[in-house]
Amino acid sequence: MVLFSGGLDSILACKVLQEQGIKVTAIKCITPFFSYELKDDERAREYKEVIRNKYGIDVEVVDITPEYLSMITDPPHGYGRYLNPCIDCKILMVKKAMSLMDRYGASFLATGEVLGQRPMSQRRDTLRIIERDSGADGLLLRPLSARFLKPTSAEESGVVDRSMLPEISGRSRKEQIRLAEHYGIKDYPAPAGGCVLADPILSKRFKRIFYTWPDFGPEDCVLGQVGRHFMLPGGSWLVVGRNRAENQALATLIGENDYVLKVLDCPGPLCIARRVKDKSDLVVAASICARYAKVKSLPVTIGVGLRDEKGQNLVIDAIPEDNKIHSYMF
Ligand code: SF4
Repeated sequence: MVLFSGGLDSILACKVLQEQGIKVTAIKCITPFFSYELKDDERAREYKEVIRNKYGIDVEVVDITPEYLSMITDPPHGYGRYLNPCIDCKILMVKKAMSLMDRYGASFLATGEVLGQRPMSQRRDTLRIIERDSGADGLLLRPLSARFLKPTSAEESGVVDRSMLPEISGRSRKEQIRLAEHYGIKDYPAPAGGCVLADPILSKRFKRIFYTWPDFGPEDCVLGQVGRHFMLPGGSWLVVGRNRAENQALATLIGENDYVLKVLDCPGPLCIARRVKDKSDLVVAASICARYAKVKSLPVTIGVGLRDEKGQNLVIDAIPEDNKIHSYMF
């Protein structure tokens, strides 16, 4: 069983093992911060098909959101450069994969980690911490760098022939590219990217969300990634679509207790006001919504309502807010 990010290293970890005649099940973990589009069954099915066709790898999608959200505000091993808890993220994935080994008849676990490739999470001592703290001591093989590391049970028992494994370490990608050619792999994603917690702007926003609303849930983590964000004077959270695609995305994210704001008399953004306790925030929200509308005349008519009311319950004549808008933005 191989933990599979979809990047070249994890693809190669699978291929190297398959080349030894080992049946590989790849496990793709998802959370609202990475690969969450695969929560949709149809998208997951398509993804599995693409990975099978492109690389000959069978992948299973596993949602680790509940465990991840319990860890994210206080990861025992701290954060990386931004809000990325890479060490605890990996520990959690390894633990999850271990819990699935029986179901898939797996005798050992592997990852595509490469010794010395990343400053924090792939140092020798960190690789040790990950296997120790996940409880996978001796069980966790890093096929690409294994020959620089202590033999694992799979190598000792002869399930994996250590002498046939590549010897990859460090930051250069040369050897991976050579191996990719060897396996006929041409089309693979660029390294890094994909995790919003490692994004300088989004990680700041999430810090604020986690701190302000400690009861945040997956739906808040998804909403935090779309549009412009404002914290209103009464404590409400306003999200404003920046373009048609974001308006459409926001329309799918409206929660039961969210207010929807729409411009009624000219083109404008779709807005969601969440966690509204003080209704006077809706007036401020309407003036911010008006600020981003293609205003023809003043005032701008904004419809406000809960999800089922489709933004039509209350009509506010709004004057676009310009002065304080930046102090609300986060
Ligand atoms: S970058 Fe994100 S997904 Fe990757 S290990 Fe770090 S926290 Fe996990």
